Amino acid sequence: MPQSFTLPPLPYADDALAPVISAKTIGFHYGKHHKTYVETLNKLVAGTEFEGQPLEDIIRSTAGKNEQVQIFNNAAQHWNHIFYWQCLRAKGGGKPKGELAHLIEQTYGGYAKFKAELADTAIKQFGSGWAWLVMDKGSLKVIKTGNADNPIARNIRPLLTIDVWEHAYYLDYQNRRNDHVDAVIDKLLNWEFAAENFSNAGVSGGFMPAMAR
Ligand code: MN
Repeated sequence: MPQSFTLPPLPYADDALAPVISAKTIGFHYGKHHKTYVETLNKLVAGTEFEGQPLEDIIRSTAGKNEQVQIFNNAAQHWNHIFYWQCLRAKGGGKPKGELAHLIEQTYGGYAKFKAELADTAIKQFGSGWAWLVMDKGSLKVIKTGNADNPIARNIRPLLTIDVWEHAYYLDYQNRRNDHVDAVIDKLLNWEFAAENFSNAGVSGGFMPAMAR
């Protein structure tokens, strides 16, 4: 029997990100939305060529294929959320350090301009989606993707992401996505995780071996 995908434990307690993201939001976002992506994905791949395949392989082979859009959506959302939970931490935010900070300085002309670009991208994603800091062919970029779409479907390496689906903030911020995004950037971004992703950027093969399941 091939192994099914499972909902990995959150890397912190439900209330660790409060008051920026409440325990109630985490309860729905992780406990309902993310859990449902995992359960739906397992049902969709059962008995297909994708059963037992690594998550990233499923994402890459179904990306852009109309007949496999449901599998893609649920596989990519599972991956996006595993990644997203690690992008946040209690007492996070502030400025990045080390080589990544240096590249941000070089690329954007300072942290303040970078922050403005990331916030603007997250706010302007029309409807559901994600804002990402990525390494694309050696260049640091801020990009946005709609719905479940993600950088690994395009062979671009993500360093950080912000979920801008309404389910990520509506209980705490209602329509004020800008306030949510500002607070996440200032207080929750996990720059240590981004630096790890950045330093692994030259490794060949899968982006996140630990995230295969
Ligand atoms: Mn989400």
